[in-house]
Amino acid sequence: MFTSAANVEELVSNFRLDGTTFRYSSFVPRLYNLVKSLGFKPGKILPSRAFCSDENQGYPIIVLTKHFGTFPFNHGRGGAVVATDRHAPYAEHGEGLVIIQASHVGFQPGNNSFGTYNRLHANDNHNSACCGKLSAITNWYLRQYRYAQSDILLERCKGELCLRIDNGLLRSGRKEGLFLRLKCLVKPDAEGKFVPVHTHSTAKSFFASETLKEQLSELAEKLQDGEHVTIGKHLRPEMFYFRRNLDETIEGPNHQEYNLVYPMPWIVTSPWPLLTAAQINTQVEFDRTLRTVAHAPSFRNKCVFYISGLNIDISPEPGDPFPTTKFVPWAALIRDRKGGKRVIDQPELVALLREQSTENPDQIDLDEAIKDMAEAESVAIET
Ligand SMILES: [Zn+2]
Repeated sequence: MFTSAANVEELVSNFRLDGTTFRYSSFVPRLYNLVKSLGFKPGKILPSRAFCSDENQGYPIIVLTKHFGTFPFNHGRGGAVVATDRHAPYAEHGEGLVIIQASHVGFQPGNNSFGTYNRLHANDNHNSACCGKLSAITNWYLRQYRYAQSDILLERCKGELCLRIDNGLLRSGRKEGLFLRLKCLVKPDAEGKFVPVHTHSTAKSFFASETLKEQLSELAEKLQDGEHVTIGKHLRPEMFYFRRNLDETIEGPNHQEYNLVYPMPWIVTSPWPLLTAAQINTQVEFDRTLRTVAHAPSFRNKCVFYISGLNIDISPEPGDPFPTTKFVPWAALIRDRKGGKRVIDQPELVALLREQSTENPDQIDLDEAIKDMAEAESVAIET
């Protein structure tokens, strides 16, 4: 899906959070009314969800149950990866099929930060990564990035801006780690080779590339010969990439990490790495799953609406039974009975949802439904 740095940058910036966010209590009735307006028949619609397995994904599922009048089919693997091998059993269980895929990220309203979530049911009410899976994946890459930020020094030699790069980062035979795109950082010699201007015991110094010299001209002017500073925040995503030994099996144990390896430089340099990771996972999953939904023979003669987005779990306060999760739609696919398909991108999707009413006369009263089931005549199980 990603072919260049520009490609990742554009995709990341295309995902808008401003004016695109819906509370679940408003998103789900709008979604229900939207699919009804497309011809889905009330009583014959079965939603499915591909969410992470965390407990905080329960509230969205309860709201879906209430508005669609049925518990949603489980279409997800850990990390909000769509289990595409479940398309056939899912299709068999319903007529109008509404698949909702969402990666998730926590939000702390107290300090407007993304990533963590208050674990109210733990003894000490501590905050921890909202999506433990995404956090476990990104931590390794964040560590490699932090090492590189301090293992590359900016210095002045022979009157020019130079980079003193630790030999560990220059070893090209490594199987895993952070690898520098030297052409973005270092000035090549006349033959296009990257030849060091100085060789130290554990590092090498190179003249900085013209682009880097331009970007850091102010900083370079302040540096005296023999003085150096770490590259820090000036190590930008287009300057490096990662290699990691991963099982590349689709929907295998490393599926989500594999989704994120190429765009990982943009994740680790983001102000909110877990927000960017969740957003990109949603984007990659939509792009991948779309083809499987569009082509699955099991969806023939069915109405399918597949929507992808991001769940933002607002960290709860003591006493709150649930988080007030919000949904940010990213894109959708409509597949009609005759096999016609249409992709709806974020701006149009948000507008379409906003047009819908939040009133849903078909919603069920869950307390009432549970009471009715408890009071229903008991069925004898006989063997
Ligand atoms: Zn999670």
